[in-house]
Order: sequence, then structure tokens, then C-alpha cells
Amino acid sequence: MDERFFVRLEPTADDPGDLFEHFERRSAGGTAYHALPDARHGVERGTVVVEDADAIVRGYPSIPRILVLETGVPSVFDGPLVVEEKLDGFNVRIARAGEPLAFTRSGYVCPYTTARAREMLDLSAFFDAHPEKMVCAELVGPETPYTTHDYAAVDSHAFRVFGVRDRESGDPLPVERRRELCAAFDFPQPECFGRYDPGAAVDAVWDAIADLDAADREGVVLKSPDCETLAKYTTESQHHDELAYAFSLPFDRGRDFVFSRVVREGFQTAELDEDDDRLRERARDLGESILVPMVRTIRDVADGETVGERHTVRGDPDTIDALLDHLRDQSLSLEIEADRREDGQRVVEFVKVAESTRDRIQYYLEGGTRDE
Ligand code: ATP
Repeated sequence: MDERFFVRLEPTADDPGDLFEHFERRSAGGTAYHALPDARHGVERGTVVVEDADAIVRGYPSIPRILVLETGVPSVFDGPLVVEEKLDGFNVRIARAGEPLAFTRSGYVCPYTTARAREMLDLSAFFDAHPEKMVCAELVGPETPYTTHDYAAVDSHAFRVFGVRDRESGDPLPVERRRELCAAFDFPQPECFGRYDPGAAVDAVWDAIADLDAADREGVVLKSPDCETLAKYTTESQHHDELAYAFSLPFDRGRDFVFSRVVREGFQTAELDEDDDRLRERARDLGESILVPMVRTIRDVADGETVGERHTVRGDPDTIDALLDHLRDQSLSLEIEADRREDGQRVVEFVKVAESTRDRIQYYLEGGTRDE
């Protein structure tokens, strides 16, 4: 990679080789690019360099999580903050590097998300006016290749734009400016609960969390008005959903994933200081979200059924082919369960086969032992 990109990436490393060795060469639809799969030397995970377009597309920063609102909010924010809904989908950055491309969190061009973004968002108008910006969005809904959370207003999938940043520096637009800009281009956005002074913010977050929890929604992202400081906080139902997901694939999802979800739940329960009955109810729900999905998966393997993540995608036939190739290129083993046409679109239901879970469970069911 050209050394001029080293300076522009503003890394903490002194030697270009120390940073560049961590970049991977990738290509998509004729565009070659370099991507950084993990954060290195002060450069965010998912950062991409498209040399032909002379473009750097900075990774989206990791958002710290608050575990105790009462103390966490004032320790992270020293002034007013905006409370926005956190949606459960997957993160994409859309930037014009030659043409508009949608990059996943780890820096892959996703052919499906790129095609959907070009169709569902007026990107030409946006990038003509703001060529150096990137649109940071969540693709949500029951029909996406990566997540499946249901939202009442979303039948298949939809974008929600939660940020606009300079693509090279990663500097964000202030929240209010971004909300106005997105409204001007008809980009849908996550709900904003309001702007609060620090004294009122904790109660406002609890109110929002109670409503979101009742609706099985994920949580909130708190943002300083200039959008430089961010923090996230999530609902009980989200913790249980994620545990259920992890334990439905017990040998594919890491132990850290599981532990961090239980810790979130522990601190939330302690801070809410709920009575004994409510504590026991939470404990029962938590236990159910661990045991029930795992037992279902063991039974499925025993019955010879395919276990893994089920997804449905719809779009034009070529885009769906490109997506399936893209997923297989990442060494995912896919099983197609249905492939049909609806209203001129191709609809494919597939499973990302959880091979470790399948093989491990099979082994134990046949009498295999564990060293522990
Ligand atoms: P990390 O942020 O530590 O990398 P992660 O990738 O697992 O962790 P999450 O814990 O899901 O991410 O939380 C951060 C993500 O939440 C963002 O990357 C973004 O995709 C998503 N998100 C959803 N709604 C919003 C919003 N309103 N503002 C900012 N991010 C949002």
C-alpha cells in the first residue's frame, strides 16, 4: 500500500510496515481494497483503504458500555446528552469510494447491503453534496444476512442512519446537525428520546429503557451533543435474547460473549434494587434463556436437523448470488432451505451451519467425554 496512506491514517505506529502488515487485501465487484480486521496502532477495526479512489474509510468506533447508570452517566458525560434508541441490526458504513459501497464492521464490502443501500437511500444526491462523508447506519429487520431482530414497522429490512462522519478522520457531525441532514435526504433514523441535562439524564434513560424493554427492543446510545462521546446501555430482554442466541449455538459462541451478558444483567438487577419476587423472576427468565435453547439444539442434532443461524434475504437474483458467494468466501458453510421468486424478487432462506456446535453435540451424544 502506498506510504502516503500511512500519514493520513494517523496511527500511533512509527513505521508503515508495522501497521500495513495487519491489513488484508480484498476485492469486491472489481474494486480492490485493503482492510484492517482488528484495531491496530490506534486505527479502528474495519478501516478500509481504496487506493484507486484515493479513499480512506475509517472504522466505526467501539462504544463503551455503562453498567451502572447512576454513576456511569456522570462519569462519562460532563454536560447535556442526547438519548437515542439503539437498534439491533448490523453496522454498515456507506461511502463513495469510486461508487457508493457498504462496508461491514470488520471492513468487508457486503454486495447485498451495497445493493440495498443504493436502492433504498438517495445516495447520489447525498454524496454529490457531501462526497467526503460516510453514512453510518444499522440494517435492521427480520430479513438480513446477519441479524434477524423483528421491528413492528419493518416487514423485511430497512436502514436507520445513526451517524454521519468524515470518512477519513472519522470526525462525527453533531447530533442535531446529523438529524437535520438525514431528514433533508429522507434517510430514516433511530428514535430520539430527547436532550437532557446531566441531572435529569439518568431518570430519562430508565424511562426509555422501561418502554424499550416492554417492547422487546435493545436499548439506548447516549451521545454528547457534539457526538464525540458515546455510551450504550441495554434492556433486560436484550440480555436474555442474546443469551438465548448464544446457548442455541453453545460451541460456536465464545465464553466471553456469554459472561459479558450475564454481567450486564447482574449490574442492572442490583441497581434496580428489586424485591425478592422480581429478582427470582429475572433469575428464572435468565435460566430459561440459557437452558431452553440449548436443549432444543441438542434435540435437533439428535434428530439429524441442521443447526445454525437461519436467515432470509430478498433482492434481485444477481445480488443474492453475490451475497451467497461472499458468505462462502468467508468459509461459512451454508445450507439453502428455500429459494423462490416473489413479486419479481428472489427470496432465499438459508442456514449458516454451526459446525462446531453440531460436531461437538454429536460427539457427546455418541458417548464422547470431556476433559474438565
Ligand atoms: P463495540 O461497540 O464494542 O464494537 P459491538 O460491535 O458488539 O461492540 P454493539 O454492542 O452492538 O456493538 O453496540 C454498538 C453498535 O450499536 C454500533 O456499532 C451501531 O452499529 C449500533 N447502533 C444501533 N443504534 C445506534 C445508535 N442510535 N447510535 C449509535 N450506534 C447505534
